[in-house]
Amino acid sequence: MVRRSAARWITFLVLLAHVLTVGALMVSWASSSSAIAEEHTVALLESSAGDTAVQAELYLSPAESTVTFGSSILADGNVAPKEIRGAILDSLDEHPQLAGVFVGESDGSFYFVSRTEDGFRVKNITVNNKGRRKVALDYLDADQQLVASEVDPEDSYDPRTRPWYSQAINGGGEVIWTDPYVFFTSQQLGITAASPIVVDGEVVGVVGADMELGALSDFLAEDVATDGSSLIVNETGVVLAHSDRSLVQSTTPEGPETMQINDLPAGQGRNAMAAWLESGSDSASTSFEVDGAKHFGAFRTTSVASKNFVIGVFGDQEAVSSDVRDTQRRERKLQFSVGGIALLVAGLLLMRVARPIKDLQAEATTDALTGLPNRRSILGVAAQLDDRDTPHALAMIDLDNFKTINDTHGHSVGDEVLQAVADRLRSALRTTDFVGRVGGEEFVAVLHDVGPEQAADLVARLWKAVRISPIKTSIGEIVVTASFGVATAVGASNHTDLLAEADRALLEAKASGRDQVLVLDLAGELLVQ
Ligand code: GH3
Ligand code: MG
Ligand code: MG
Repeated sequence: MVRRSAARWITFLVLLAHVLTVGALMVSWASSSSAIAEEHTVALLESSAGDTAVQAELYLSPAESTVTFGSSILADGNVAPKEIRGAILDSLDEHPQLAGVFVGESDGSFYFVSRTEDGFRVKNITVNNKGRRKVALDYLDADQQLVASEVDPEDSYDPRTRPWYSQAINGGGEVIWTDPYVFFTSQQLGITAASPIVVDGEVVGVVGADMELGALSDFLAEDVATDGSSLIVNETGVVLAHSDRSLVQSTTPEGPETMQINDLPAGQGRNAMAAWLESGSDSASTSFEVDGAKHFGAFRTTSVASKNFVIGVFGDQEAVSSDVRDTQRRERKLQFSVGGIALLVAGLLLMRVARPIKDLQAEATTDALTGLPNRRSILGVAAQLDDRDTPHALAMIDLDNFKTINDTHGHSVGDEVLQAVADRLRSALRTTDFVGRVGGEEFVAVLHDVGPEQAADLVARLWKAVRISPIKTSIGEIVVTASFGVATAVGASNHTDLLAEADRALLEAKASGRDQVLVLDLAGELLVQ
């Protein structure tokens, strides 16, 4: 009947606005936080690549300094390779990443100090003027003391055929790093730093230092801490080292073989690394997807002895920046709780605010004395009839000689009568009809879907209800009657006109002696009930 849901609507809309605001904040926070996490991940990887590059240079440099030192001493011409044995042994002692240090000469002689499980082995191949070879092997313990010696007439090793020899004499007098190859003695893959011995502009030999690729991978896995994985490739894309050792070499019946970057699994940044090698810049970062998960990578080139090694570090976001993720998860929980509490507080406040709004609304539409719809409200209901094309009726109701009741018993007794009459009218109505108080002792009833005859019957019910028995008041029983004027319409009507007609019928009822119902029929004729 009366719009009593405005407070509910306001509550709903304010809460909706609140939920949308908190939701929007959370969404924007989530997207910015994932951007922050990505930036953090890339920054971590970039710094990790930088650290790894610096440490890799430090790790490789003892090999370079050992061969530079050896070749410069031997270039003097007065020193034989076996005379620098002590320096070589000290270098091996100090730098566990070196597998062996050797000198190969242009006449085919060779001096090689290598690491064994419990000490060192010294291989000395000498060639005399007549080209005769002698191969002597000495075994030293960890304290560099000789424990055994033997000769090996079968040994046919010729340093001049080895990769490091040819690469070093073509290296322009500088230290070079070879590409990976299989070491003769250990049959392990490794790289060699080699420096030519130049006497009077002529290369008379080469000093080399071996490093196994396995050692380089151990260095990445153990000495350089990154949360993702890291690798080193040379400029032709050969994998020199990987924090996962199993990814460095493949085993074939002919022995170990190196892997190309393209042989690596996708998650190891294979594609990104290949693109990087083509681009040739000094440092970069990239991201790529593997099985729908985002991965990140950072690269750094480091030049060691004229070779460019590319250091790459890779990882997915979880692995690299799990601390950031944890913090963000905690923040999200906090945000949910704060959002929830804010919503609750807003809800409670709204309930408090909504109640007075509800009361105000009720006050604006209800008559305080009788609890019936007030004038504005019942006339609003009557106005709705204008749009209906079903038959309907309006009744104007006025208590008879009410002034006398007031004058005789007082205003407050009059009020009691008004309340009782209101109750009687309301109870006598159908649930689909309405009655409201439009003035002092005047009421209007709105009857839906009724023709003139049924309207007359319904109003007669009201008339009887008012007069059926004296009204009990604080000063005793009072006999009350009322007069009724009814106007009817078959279809859409103008409620103002209809009210005027009902009023006319009411005046006629009063004039005809009160306590009666007068119906204005469709033809405008007055019928006394
Ligand atoms: P009639 O039969 O011709 O309608 O006579 P009447 O006395 O009922 O009509 P009249 O218009 O002369 O008097 C109406 C009276 O209703 C006058 C007024 O004091 C009284 N009245 C109006 N509002 C209230 C109210 O809220 N409470 C009380 N107790 N009396 C009211
Ligand atoms: Mg009156
Ligand atoms: Mg009256």
